[in-house]
Amino acid sequence: MCGIVGYVGEKQCTDILVGALQKLEYRGYDSAGIAVFSNDRIKTIKAKGKIAEGLIERLKSEGPYAATTGIGHTRWATHGEPSDINSHPIGNGRVCIVHNGIIENYRKVKEFLTDKGYGFESETDTETVAKLLDYNYSGNPLDTIIKTIADIEGAYALGIIFREHKEHIYAVRKESPLIVGKGEGEMFIASDVTAIIEHTKEYYLLEQGEIADITKDGVKFYDVHKNPIEKEIQVADWDVSAAEKGGYAHFMLKEITEQPTALKNTIHPRIKDGMPDFTECCLTDDKLRKYHHIYIVGCGSAMHAGIVGKYVIESLARTPVIVDIASEFKYRSPLLTPDDLVVIISQSGETADTKAALKLANDIGADTLAIVNVVGSSIAREAKMVMYTLAGPEISVCSTKAYMVQAAFMYLLAFRVAYARSRIDEATCKQLVAEMLEIPAKVQSCVDNQEQYQKVASRLISADSLLYIGRGLDYALSMEGSLKLKEISYIHSESYAAGELKHGTISLIDEGMPVIAVATQGNLLDKTLSNVKEVKSRGATVVLVCKEDMDISGCGVDYPVYLPVARDLLMPLVAVVPLQLIAYYTAVLKNCDVDHPRNLAKSVTVE
Ligand code: GLU
Repeated sequence: MCGIVGYVGEKQCTDILVGALQKLEYRGYDSAGIAVFSNDRIKTIKAKGKIAEGLIERLKSEGPYAATTGIGHTRWATHGEPSDINSHPIGNGRVCIVHNGIIENYRKVKEFLTDKGYGFESETDTETVAKLLDYNYSGNPLDTIIKTIADIEGAYALGIIFREHKEHIYAVRKESPLIVGKGEGEMFIASDVTAIIEHTKEYYLLEQGEIADITKDGVKFYDVHKNPIEKEIQVADWDVSAAEKGGYAHFMLKEITEQPTALKNTIHPRIKDGMPDFTECCLTDDKLRKYHHIYIVGCGSAMHAGIVGKYVIESLARTPVIVDIASEFKYRSPLLTPDDLVVIISQSGETADTKAALKLANDIGADTLAIVNVVGSSIAREAKMVMYTLAGPEISVCSTKAYMVQAAFMYLLAFRVAYARSRIDEATCKQLVAEMLEIPAKVQSCVDNQEQYQKVASRLISADSLLYIGRGLDYALSMEGSLKLKEISYIHSESYAAGELKHGTISLIDEGMPVIAVATQGNLLDKTLSNVKEVKSRGATVVLVCKEDMDISGCGVDYPVYLPVARDLLMPLVAVVPLQLIAYYTAVLKNCDVDHPRNLAKSVTVE
């Protein structure tokens, strides 16, 4: 959500800033802009819309700017519609900023500044910070920033330039992420390392309340009392190709095809002597035996991975699991105690709602285990225990491989909890692990078999609305299938527990309405097939996703989608692939912007 970049060095930086912003496009945005020092003045160029059509066109028409220092931004509007004027950078001739987050007390600050004679051009909360910096400006940027942040509340990552300090960029953050990249004779700021990986792999993580004073030769860090801080440099362990499309039409397709590898990378290091092993994060069997409840908290696909986790942990370990939507968790006063484990799932490790849930769990004194993809992210650092999913960078807004590895983690956790609690013996646990190790090959065979998904997609593109149905684990999975489809193809869909249809929703079925039924659980097959017949006899067109050894004859399915066979319990890891690819091809056939769906952001850093 929103991207910040900045450059200070010796090279012409306009293209560097725009290129870095393009690397952050995946995060989601509605407008973009840059501010550079040109002839000793701050020159701001910004435009609503995509970088290629808005900002780049404007830069072409306004002529090139010779500049070696500047900041840039992709905005995901929270306060004020997407428009040129509301775009960032925002400021005046003296100070100019880019901001990610929300200033919660912006009304109060605006009133204060209006009384002091300031006028406001934009509708943004950000402008109040820009003007407050101007009001507080004493000639010393550090003092000015410290004074200003003392008076603002909310979440922010800020990149700041002052006209009188044209060889410096300043940065400060609270809640929203920001890094400082270190090159040779050049330095960067960025919301994440993807933006700058083509220039450098070395970076510093800016922590809460820290301020960075950056020049081309290096960076100095300070706390809010102006005490200098020493920080350790981080090195990204992936390279530029991991964040490029590599010949695929979309990042989403690339990431779907990367799932077998992502699964292997995530599972293998956690298997020791054939057993799931969590000693890397000190999650011992003793701990797993003592927890009264396990809470799993996440948003979107991460939460759906948690629902799969609930079914699997409860069925194997007979331990109660509560799954919470992160944005609800904090406000529903959960009955959480220090005897519980809270598993926090987030791809980016920066999801604001999930972070707030983690904070609550930490405050209550529960054990917290973060399952995150981005190393060193806020959630990884704030949780008591962390396990990294090793999926590599996920660029497409629509999560696929991150969901896959999060769900895989749920299984490993379930196996270990069940073993620690003596619900399964060592031989059974090893057998489950062995079968899990066969899943990447089955995922690969789904990925290789794309024709059947394209056929289904060509039927779905004309639909206004459709239903996903399933029972048990298939219901958990159908939630994810439905989310994928609506995210990127803009077709309305709902997922429904198949048995619940007749209690209301079946009234929606009319001639030709597509229903995607997921039936991979042998013990529920007959029941689900009865539900398929119910919708068929009311005119639905049915897609049935099932195992290739299942007998589905006689129920009149229009589009059968067959899957390689695995143990029922493990089938969600296989069956999610067709659901991802059906959503993908539907969006492609509808000409939707697959990797950048409208209104969505990748890393949702506001609550
Ligand atoms: N709240 C700010 C605005 O609406 C920043 C949004 C963002 O993070 O992009 O302009």
